[in-house]
Amino acid sequence: MSFENLGLSDRILQAVKDAGFAEPTEIQAQAIPPAIEGKDVLGLAQTGSGKTAAFVLPILKRLETGRARARMPRTLILEPTRELAAQVHEAFEQLGRHHKLKIALLIGGVSFDVQSRIIDRGADVLIATPGRLIDHFERGKLLLTGIEVLVIDEADRMLDMGFIPDIERIVKMLPFTRQTLFFSATMPKEIQRLVDQFLHLPVRVEAQPPSSTADTIDQKLVLAPLDEAAKRERLREVIRAREGGISNAIIFANRKKTVEVLRKSMEKHEFSAGALHGDMDQYQRLEMLQKFRDGEITYLIASDVAARGLDIPAVSHVINYDTPVTAEDYVHRIGRTGRAGRKGEAVTLVTPDDFKAVAAIEKLIGKNIPWEGEAPTEEEIERAARKKSRGRGRGPARGGDRGRGKSGRGGQRAKGSKRGKARPKEGADEARKVARGPKDRTDNARKAGDKARFSDDNMPAFLARPVNRD
Ligand code: AMP
Repeated sequence: MSFENLGLSDRILQAVKDAGFAEPTEIQAQAIPPAIEGKDVLGLAQTGSGKTAAFVLPILKRLETGRARARMPRTLILEPTRELAAQVHEAFEQLGRHHKLKIALLIGGVSFDVQSRIIDRGADVLIATPGRLIDHFERGKLLLTGIEVLVIDEADRMLDMGFIPDIERIVKMLPFTRQTLFFSATMPKEIQRLVDQFLHLPVRVEAQPPSSTADTIDQKLVLAPLDEAAKRERLREVIRAREGGISNAIIFANRKKTVEVLRKSMEKHEFSAGALHGDMDQYQRLEMLQKFRDGEITYLIASDVAARGLDIPAVSHVINYDTPVTAEDYVHRIGRTGRAGRKGEAVTLVTPDDFKAVAAIEKLIGKNIPWEGEAPTEEEIERAARKKSRGRGRGPARGGDRGRGKSGRGGQRAKGSKRGKARPKEGADEARKVARGPKDRTDNARKAGDKARFSDDNMPAFLARPVNRD
């Protein structure tokens, strides 16, 4: 399949070529032709599948005819977070570079006046987080009756963040005759309800089953000791064993405190590392991400909450310093490597406390992940399970296995183990400005972000998940 066969114009094809996209990704090949025909599309795809261009390109095609009228934007893209909105803005600027587009970005912190001026002149594309869009609408400066295409992106994340009532409200303000492009990585019941409500005879396209992991990711498990200092040494072994093979890596930890400890430890051992955690404000996060993108730092240490929704292209490795608490987080995390057909490697450190979590991950992704070095024995797994059930009700069993930790073998192999040594911009500028600007008044995204930041503090990831009270 080539981009030439999808029904795109020469101007668009030129921009696609300029962007260095050789051929369409699966979701692009499936979604672009029906979207150009004006059909509603339901796309089951995750970040990293190329789904942004899957809606940006057909929108560009539509914008080639007709013009925007004052205060009546033609297309609306709803994103759950400011970061995602800024990334979509960037994608429009990149892929729409041969079009004269007027784009308004309505996200928390951007001055209302500047955005209102763009809308007054007639915006072709409106990219917004739901709360901020409603704020603009309520000021009476925005008419949504001219919207021809609505994109709801990352719908399952919108659900997580409590945005569904806002979205239902927004959709009521749009013309019934619009085209709707709807993307979600998963399809919980509540999302299906929205699909039934908002989409008309949609063409369903799917890049890959939402719970599966890409074949381009080489996955490994590495047995690790419980003791944190010894576990950090194991991490260094994993990294050193890949000397030269890691162009950049995200190292995930489950707790904010661990993120900081790891960053300090990595720096002490002269690795080029930076941290991304929930205590950092938007500006600091984007700045750190930019450093990572520019290759100024090689290792980005992150918590799930802080990394959620960030597009980090071309990551060669994901290392789970902590086995994620939920299997879904595992799929999310490792989806940051092996993107758009590139090869990637995902290595997960597994302590005896994590055997159960690994079993859940393997069940979800439908395959066994090979161990690098020696796998734990049946006996070790059983012992860990027994210990876990004994420890239940007494809080986390941390440190209970010291014999294999600091005071024992310092992270070296267990007795009898044959384990060998581990084998060897512009949108962003805008967003940066945004982050420096005054804080958004009522943007739900910010509220949710604050909640996330608060709950990021030393809590297991599953406790940080917002509860859907609907
Ligand atoms: P997305 O899933 O939209 O966040 O895209 C993930 C990354 O893949 C982005 O950095 C895009 O620039 C890149 N990308 C999108 N489409 C293609 C393509 N056809 N070929 C190569 N890279 C792509």
